[in-house]
Amino acid sequence: MIPFAKPFYTSAEEELVTKVIRSGWVSQGERVEQFEGRIADFVGARHAIATNSCTSALILALRVLDIGVGDEVLCPSFTCIATINAIVAVKAQPIFVDIDPVTYNIDPEVARRALSARTRAIVAVDQVGLPAEWDSLNALADQYGLELIEDAACALGAEYRGRKLGSLGWPTTLSFHPRKILSTGEGGMLLVESDEFADRARRLRSHGAAVSDVVRHRSGGFVSTDYPEPGYNFRMTDLQAALGVVQTTRLPSFLQERRRQAGVYDEALKSIPDLCAPVVPAHMSHAYQSYMVRMSAVSRVDRDCLIRKLVVRGVACRSGIAPLHWNVSLGSSRQPSSLPVTEEASRQTFFLPIYPGLSADDQSEVVRALKACLHDCH
Ligand SMILES: *Cc1c(COP(=O)(O)O)cnc(C)c1O
Repeated sequence: MIPFAKPFYTSAEEELVTKVIRSGWVSQGERVEQFEGRIADFVGARHAIATNSCTSALILALRVLDIGVGDEVLCPSFTCIATINAIVAVKAQPIFVDIDPVTYNIDPEVARRALSARTRAIVAVDQVGLPAEWDSLNALADQYGLELIEDAACALGAEYRGRKLGSLGWPTTLSFHPRKILSTGEGGMLLVESDEFADRARRLRSHGAAVSDVVRHRSGGFVSTDYPEPGYNFRMTDLQAALGVVQTTRLPSFLQERRRQAGVYDEALKSIPDLCAPVVPAHMSHAYQSYMVRMSAVSRVDRDCLIRKLVVRGVACRSGIAPLHWNVSLGSSRQPSSLPVTEEASRQTFFLPIYPGLSADDQSEVVRALKACLHDCH
């Protein structure tokens, strides 16, 4: 079976994790700081706050912006449930917005029509690694005094107008789940510009304590702390961060390899009229966390037939993203009953295997299998 995603680890990760185990300090500590520094440098962010997941990082982003009870937050339905769960966790109301049919990211014009007097923020997602239309979203946010939060869980290393996501100026979150660009097993990060947001996010990450555990440890004795506001335990461990520290050294090659593999699929799909390759607007670069294919308008093949046959043949592909407004009951009279672009994209898309470590032979087999299974489904 060719898996459709897989983390990439070598003995270098094993060695650094072992070193952390032997050091006796395994919870949040120096390795976390080192990992934060490396990601901040890579994307060009002022502050990086590592967390135990992207979901927690999203909750911190919403909390530092004081978004909560009574606030509406515009968000896509074509996303991971974690985007929505974070909004619900701070007791705000998610309002689903339809996507652009080409980029699969939140459509700024539809977002404009969804605004109300209670709208406080837009959480936009850089879906499967392609940046959202940030200039238009930023203009909308400026015009109506909204906050922007960027869920870049899948998009570490992607660029918008030549700038890496996470450096555009608003709070941005990353995921280090094994299906993302780099993996710490579980893990996430919040990237922010403001010193004040960074300090507050660091406190909230660690029970709301004013003095960090590292500072307490280094003081070597009696340092008490106060708790200015209730927080969470959203800390990453040094064991996870050790994986991250090694993984960051491979980040440029990971991205290069994903883009190379995407290029191989792009080329192969040119001669397969049933399928459309992902489209990357000229002012963006894609991180290709996933390679999302779409059944073309001319195709009469049933997507689910194709996926089933591919799996039988040994290619683990997956159907695309299930719309959340179908599955989640979010009781608001302002919730749209249907999002036609999202629903159609969800029916017509699926993912092909893409990951560092996918061999050229296996990728050729994926393309052969696609052609054969399309033939069988006709
Ligand atoms: C994976 C993902 C998340 C959740 O990340 P975790 O680290 O598992 O919490 C959130 N948003 C998007 C868009 C994702 O793809």
